[in-house]
Parts: sequence; C-alpha cells; structure tokens
Amino acid sequence: MRTAIFGGTFNPVHLGHKNAVKRVFEAVELDRVIVLPDRIPPHKAVKELAAEKDRLAMLELTFSDVPQTEISDYELKREGKSYSVITLRHFSETLPKDKLFFIMGSDMLLTFSKWYCWEEILSLCTLICVSRCDEDTGKLEPCAESLRHFGGEVIIVPVEPFEVSSTQLRDMIRKNEDCSCYLDENVVKYITDNNLYGRGV
Ligand code: ATP
Repeated sequence: MRTAIFGGTFNPVHLGHKNAVKRVFEAVELDRVIVLPDRIPPHKAVKELAAEKDRLAMLELTFSDVPQTEISDYELKREGKSYSVITLRHFSETLPKDKLFFIMGSDMLLTFSKWYCWEEILSLCTLICVSRCDEDTGKLEPCAESLRHFGGEVIIVPVEPFEVSSTQLRDMIRKNEDCSCYLDENVVKYITDNNLYGRGV
C-alpha cells in the first residue's frame, strides 16, 4: 500500500488542511492518508489548545467525506513529545510492506533541515509538500533539490494556496467573526456547541 501520513496539531483542523489532502490525492497515487493529531505535553500546553477528544472529533467531521482518509490517535496515546521520526519508525515497523509518504505544508518543508533526525526521516519516507502561500511557492523546488542531494525523495504538489492558519482562526473565533469559509460547517457547529476557543465569551 502507498500510505501517507499527515501530522499536525489541528487546533482546529481547517479547510486549508482538507484542501491540501485533496490536492495530494489528485497529484500523487496513494491508497490512504493517515491523519495524526499530535500530543502536546501538559507542561508545554499551548494557550487555547482544545482537548484531544475535541481535536479528534473535529478531524472526523472534516474528513468524513474524503475517502481513503483515516484519523489515528497514535501520537495522542504515545508518551512524550510527538517527534515525526518516532511516528515514522513506528509506521515503517508496523506497516513493513507499505511505501510511506509524509505530507506537509510549505512552512514545514522550508524549515525541514531543523527537524529532529531529519536525515533519518528522508530515509523512511517520501516528502509531499503543498504550498501555503504564494511567497513560499518559488522557494520549494530549490529546497526540495537540496534535500534530494541528501538522498531524499520530495514531491512538490502544484496548488493554488489556500491561505489560512489555525492561529488566525482561533483569533477570529474569539472575536466571534464568521469563519465559515475556512472551517467545515459541522466544525463551526461543534465549536459553537462546545464553546471552544473562547467563543462567545
Ligand atoms: P497553527 O496556526 O496553530 O500553527 P496551522 O494552521 O499551521 O496551525 P498545523 O496543525 O500546525 O496547522 O498544521 C499541520 C500541517 O498542515 C503542517 O504540515 C502545515 O504546514 C500544514 N498546513 C496548515 N495549514 C495549511 C494550509 N493552509 N495549506 C497547506 N498546508 C497547511
């Protein structure tokens, strides 16, 4: 199987994430995408981090209509910091016959050489990158080329960037601004019903 992993905090998951997965499915032959929310250790808790069960529920709502997508709680259950290399080692051991891919936005690719054990990550999977903004787009091929010199396989998916971040959305929600063009409609309702991110306070 050709399996891609898509990790993130997803606090909350937004349509930029969903768009990225859909564009990747169109451009790269894949059998499935495993979406993995990460665990933030309590002492590092990010301000306004929604509970794990809420982040999982919002992922389920957002990706319910994208076939071949699974939500995994592997990183949430694991003790310690969610290093991608540990996750990739786990999947390469538990799915030994699979070819692994790792999906990321352009901010991640452009800082990839600062990641913990990044050279090992290149040996474990093929990176797939989706641009988040026009400013990043032109920088991606040169960055990919330099990683290829280290033996890495990197695919840049040509996309029209869908510019949005979870930080921007948490801010908008706190101010009771309309986020419906950035969030799945069921997630808008979930956030309202569960009073997440200081909505209405
Ligand atoms: P925050 O603002 O809280 O840092 P974020 O919007 O960057 O959050 P993450 O959950 O940290 O979202 O991102 C998970 C993955 O999705 C990362 O690889 C990130 O680069 C990618 N990503 C996030 N937003 C977009 C987007 N709009 N388009 C493409 N990829 C994205």
